[in-house]
Amino acid sequence: MVSEPPAGIELFCPECDYNLRGLTSDRCPECGLKLDFIDAPESPVPWERRAQLGRLRTYWQTVFLVLFRTKLFCRAMYRPVSYRAARRFQYVTVLHTLAALFLGLLSLQWQRPDLLQQLWLTGWPLVAVGAITGLALLALTGLPSYFFHPRWLPVELQNRAVALCYYANAPLAASALVPLASIAAYHAVGPPRDLQPVLVLVTAPPTVLVLLMWWSIWNQFAKYLLRRPTRVAVVTWLLPPLGLLLTAFLLAVPALVALYIALIVSSLR
Ligand SMILES: [Zn+2]
Repeated sequence: MVSEPPAGIELFCPECDYNLRGLTSDRCPECGLKLDFIDAPESPVPWERRAQLGRLRTYWQTVFLVLFRTKLFCRAMYRPVSYRAARRFQYVTVLHTLAALFLGLLSLQWQRPDLLQQLWLTGWPLVAVGAITGLALLALTGLPSYFFHPRWLPVELQNRAVALCYYANAPLAASALVPLASIAAYHAVGPPRDLQPVLVLVTAPPTVLVLLMWWSIWNQFAKYLLRRPTRVAVVTWLLPPLGLLLTAFLLAVPALVALYIALIVSSLR
């Protein structure tokens, strides 16, 4: 027998959507799914047990669960979820992505020492680009949370869905594939005279893969956590253009400010 959920929370079977109100056994009366996970003593989110099991291990276990056992991971909605742990996971994932991008730049520097200078990516501009990219990633990874507290869910479930949606950023943990692909290609074919087109060709597939996985996980989280086709459609089709707009805005504002300052400085001369 599964214990009664807190007042005001209605639970539905994750497999068949059957309303589990007044449940008297530990199995779903409709589809027979074993519901013992609702009362399990341990959180199904490995990252919430990082103090006991270690950060590195639980981080990658969580990434694996989100990517390949998405439906199972979303059963976390049936128990209390730690918002703090979810935000930590988001920060670690953003740092991870920044580190991967930095690794990519380092590999560029190593392959063609003059390329970063040509792109003006040395010294302060590099620090500024890093900071802006970090801010943009923070905003982008937090953007889905605005869609994950629909009014038709009880407040407690809204809070859980908002916390869990930060885990939907797990695909970004694979962004190290992008610089690794460029380094591997460089080792395989050596330095071609025209490096840029080769770099674009080599790094495009892993970049597209990471973005597609990210989009697919957003979509699946909406499906399993929010359970309404209209909201799933909103997340699937509205979130990508909104993300693009937000990125463009975050990149354009500092560029315009820099241009403005440059104009003032040049007019004072
Ligand atoms: Zn069921």
